[in-house]
Amino acid sequence: MIPGQDPVPLAGLPAEVTVYEVGPRDGLQNEPGAVPSAVKVELIERLAAAGLAAIEATSFVRPEWVPQLADAEAVVAALSDDLRSQVTVLVPNLRGLERAIGAGIGRVAVFASATESFAARNLNRTVDESLAMFAPVVEGATGAGMWVRGYLSMCFGDPWEGAVPPSAVVGVATRLLEMGCAELSLGDTIGVATPGQVVAVLDALVEAGVGVDQLAVHFHDTYGQALANTLAALQRGVTTVDASAGGLGGCPYARSATGNLATEDLIWQLHGLGIRTGVDLDALVATSTWLAGHLGRPSPSRVVRALAGPGGGEDKKNGGGDHSGGDDEHEETAP
Ligand code: MG
Repeated sequence: MIPGQDPVPLAGLPAEVTVYEVGPRDGLQNEPGAVPSAVKVELIERLAAAGLAAIEATSFVRPEWVPQLADAEAVVAALSDDLRSQVTVLVPNLRGLERAIGAGIGRVAVFASATESFAARNLNRTVDESLAMFAPVVEGATGAGMWVRGYLSMCFGDPWEGAVPPSAVVGVATRLLEMGCAELSLGDTIGVATPGQVVAVLDALVEAGVGVDQLAVHFHDTYGQALANTLAALQRGVTTVDASAGGLGGCPYARSATGNLATEDLIWQLHGLGIRTGVDLDALVATSTWLAGHLGRPSPSRVVRALAGPGGGEDKKNGGGDHSGGDDEHEETAP
């Protein structure tokens, strides 16, 4: 429960929300320094112990693409059998899927773009070519009995193209769902969305026949809009929200994409609204405080800073991480 505050519900919101934790993958892949495999494993274990049922653990991409996650096999191998079947891993292609199957993973995610510019930069392909690459991955995964999530980047704005029409989102989203993705996460990769836009995109998807229960939202707090956008999505019936413990990470290919929505900030809002998450906020704050010590800088999460006190949650006892870099290095190139 929230210290010193009783929940006050707001009409029209879901009773329960699934928080999809992306910190170990989306967060750590953007870390400037190498995080030891043992720290990654402990992070995943602590997040699960804090009650997060959906955790994206790592990425089976080529190590040259994302050297921060080059130890994906070792991290997954160190998890318990139960946890290994519970977590999701990102797979870009058939090779990644083969690695995930070989590692005993039960849930995978593929990642597409709503815009041609980001598809070209992130995947070195057109949107059509990227979908052609993912189709056999999704088919192979569902054929192997795996649950598949699709990510759709740049749903609300693109740093090279500017505004993204909802029709472009609908076009790619419906194709990913037709392939067999069980869930689609709509990404505001550069954090520019505002609540009216969120509602417009969700309404366009529902109008095109997409079930709101198939949708998740992935907001970045770059412009301070992530929680407002989350509330708008909840009011439209979305019940899965992506967030990153301690506000870790962004996207290495989208330079303006600072700041995933912090899981703690999301949990504060959800619990304040009386929405069940199953997450122990104190345990989560303790986890982000512990991790901040390993990373050598305080968490950007407002809630971590508020609950962990001065220093913003950097636990000096556990120091020794890489003190270089951080979000301040990012150049703002948003439209
Ligand atoms: Mg993100």
